[in-house]
Amino acid sequence: METLTGKVALVTGGSRGIGAATARALAEEGADVAMSYVNSGAKARAIVCELEGKGVRTAAFRADQADPSQVEGLIRAVVERFGHLDILVNNAGIAVSGLIDNPENIIDDFKRQHAINFGGVVAAIRAAVKVMENGGRIITVGSVIGTRVGTVGMADYAATKAAIVGYTKGAARDLGPRNITVNVLQAGAIDTDMNPATSDFAPTATAGVALGRYGRPEEIAAGIIFLASPAASYITGTVLNVDGGYGA
Ligand code: NDP
Repeated sequence: METLTGKVALVTGGSRGIGAATARALAEEGADVAMSYVNSGAKARAIVCELEGKGVRTAAFRADQADPSQVEGLIRAVVERFGHLDILVNNAGIAVSGLIDNPENIIDDFKRQHAINFGGVVAAIRAAVKVMENGGRIITVGSVIGTRVGTVGMADYAATKAAIVGYTKGAARDLGPRNITVNVLQAGAIDTDMNPATSDFAPTATAGVALGRYGRPEEIAAGIIFLASPAASYITGTVLNVDGGYGA
């Protein structure tokens, strides 16, 4: 049974990886799906074509998450195209690693990462709540690294993902009276372009995972669908770890 028919969802960074899997899963549940991208226009358009085949309305928009005005424009464009916005999935992100005492690890890299992973989320939530109605859902893709770093070189990235959790808890309080839920899904090591299961980093990524393997983007999408579904109506201001037991 489709659980999200009649809903309009926006997935930031829907062109690849976890975002693309989430866009597909939302469409499977009957939602109309908008997505954003920054560089992969062709990949985003291919997913739009695929979702059209599932009979839902869909569109892709270019918007750089590092620029709050582009993020605001994205939310406006979605509402102009689809009429409303019910589900916001803040997925777009980058991961830039580097030891904090390495001179080549420049502060501008941190600023860009922070602007996309945290500033973009804040901008999207602030713009979305201007148009979201009672029953809206906001889900942000965080990382288990925001809670347990577990390896070197990830301080800047971890900070951006930890910030999301605090913001989510505050937003859940502010938006509770409007029956809008706000949650974080913290992903573990997921096989995508960002963190390929075939890379030299893979053994480190899976070393602390109870299930001993990478997760698939579809396994994150399943958690997002749950948080967006009617079954999660009493869940807000919390963190759902989908990490194969990395935090255990
Ligand atoms: P990918 O690198 O595979 O995909 C990233 C997506 O984000 C792409 O669609 C990309 O668009 C988009 N994006 C990147 N920068 C911007 C930007 N400035 N503006 C708009 N869109 C942007 O990554 P994943 O699918 O692996 O990651 C998705 C989310 O999951 C991220 O927030 C990441 O931090 C988080 N995560 C991932 C984990 C993993 O192991 N893979 C683990 C924990 C969390 P485009 O294609 O146009 O570049």
